[in-house]
Amino acid sequence: MKCAKCDEKAIIKIAYANIALCKTHFSEWLEHRFERLIKKYHMLDGIERVGVAVSGGKDSTTLLHLMYKLSKIYDFELVGINIDLGIDMGKAYSTKSSELAVKNFEMLGLKYKVIRIKDEYGFTIDEAKKKIKRPVCSTCGLVKRYTLNDIAEREGLDAIATGHNLNDMAQFVLSGYFSGDILDLSRLKPVSQPEKGYKVKKIKPLFLIYEKEILTYAIINKIPFLYDSCPHTFRVGGATQDKIRRKLEELEDEIPGFMMMLVQNFVDKIQGPLEKEYAREEDISRCKICGRPTSKGREICSFCATRISMGVLNEAR
Ligand code: SF4
Ligand code: ZN
Ligand code: ZN
Repeated sequence: MKCAKCDEKAIIKIAYANIALCKTHFSEWLEHRFERLIKKYHMLDGIERVGVAVSGGKDSTTLLHLMYKLSKIYDFELVGINIDLGIDMGKAYSTKSSELAVKNFEMLGLKYKVIRIKDEYGFTIDEAKKKIKRPVCSTCGLVKRYTLNDIAEREGLDAIATGHNLNDMAQFVLSGYFSGDILDLSRLKPVSQPEKGYKVKKIKPLFLIYEKEILTYAIINKIPFLYDSCPHTFRVGGATQDKIRRKLEELEDEIPGFMMMLVQNFVDKIQGPLEKEYAREEDISRCKICGRPTSKGREICSFCATRISMGVLNEAR
């Protein structure tokens, strides 16, 4: 199979676009597509400092490199962020993940911050898994959200970019329909305005780019990334989430472009009306411990409540 743009051998067939491309032309094609999506969804409008949350995996490291290229053309500053969650499980997952993130930050000569939650907040995700009854990923999500908002405030960031890809987004859309979670669906979009009480936007620049394309880009451009996935992954969301993801991939094989249509139509046509109807501006209170926003009427935010349950914070503080 030859590249559609030159005489080189094609390394990837992009079935939904009916095109096969060589290494060079695929990289160019993906970079161009990335830039077009950023512009179309106004992700960087009015943005001067962007933090990229890098876990060390293929999606976030590729996002970092694509954002870096863009920062050379457009006028914004990039800051690398890695959260060391303290996930070990005999595999040193967080240590390896931070090492890979830092390797990429230093390769690109970026300013960066590694936040070790054990040092910063007194507990690790592995410890929380043992001590707190709720699913570990829900604690981890809370920790990541809090930490990213916190670091954004401290570093004066206007936006934080995360590496959610098209396969993730398609899974979120279908799971949202499956469970009837209208509130979650009404908030699912590539550019989220700041949470009440914060100033930082959250953007998902890879939200319409397939996982396979990101992996191919990372490999051919020799981006160092961690192949291991989080050792807690298989316990997340149980078998149903895995099946939804697998079925989506099967549908994609049968109907090329299926996931893209699902997500693009959701984002462009359905999410807006849902948000108008269901998303409500919530009033906030301030947490009496950390001073960060919390739901109206609550004295202590969920994050500080978690730290209290972990025994690393005194309620009377
Ligand atoms: Fe955290 Fe769960 Fe993701 Fe692991 S799989 S990083 S525990 S959210
Ligand atoms: Zn070519
Ligand atoms: Zn708090």
